[in-house]
Amino acid sequence: MSIDVATVSIDTGWMRVALEAASRAAAASDIPVGAVAVRGGKCVAVSWNEKESRPDPTGHAEILVLRAAAAALGRWRLPDVTVYVTLEPCAMCAGAMVQARLGRLVFGATDPRAGAAGSAYSLLDHPAHNHAVPATAGVLAEDARSVIDSFIRALRNRPRQSLEDRAEAEVGD
Ligand SMILES: [Zn+2]
Repeated sequence: MSIDVATVSIDTGWMRVALEAASRAAAASDIPVGAVAVRGGKCVAVSWNEKESRPDPTGHAEILVLRAAAAALGRWRLPDVTVYVTLEPCAMCAGAMVQARLGRLVFGATDPRAGAAGSAYSLLDHPAHNHAVPATAGVLAEDARSVIDSFIRALRNRPRQSLEDRAEAEVGD
């Protein structure tokens, strides 16, 4: 399959929106991960990690953006939707994407420790599932990674050790 230059620049543009959303997570002391749902060239939903701020163990950017997109479209099946997320989804979020029959996933940085789009697990195209989500990796990956790295650096500079431990343990969830 040849690489379509137009698709690449569209992907980069939406990933910039996701990166902007990620910075809103960091402002609330959540690990900066942002997500955008796009349908027919239009933004349907923008979300960011709100696990701490809600607080909600399922409050990852991808879960929130799938919920918001489903609410906006009035249906849970999202085969015509592309989700852009700054970090490779975890097992929970990849599972939710399969449940949503998501049309396509585009992500930035890979997460070697917990990523479920091929790094630690491959859940998007697992043979046990009745739906496979096509994925494109590595769009603005360095930007996405540096947003997370600087967040962790800032946590390390805080006196509370527990915060650092939390980030070390959970980044990439
Ligand atoms: Zn997740």
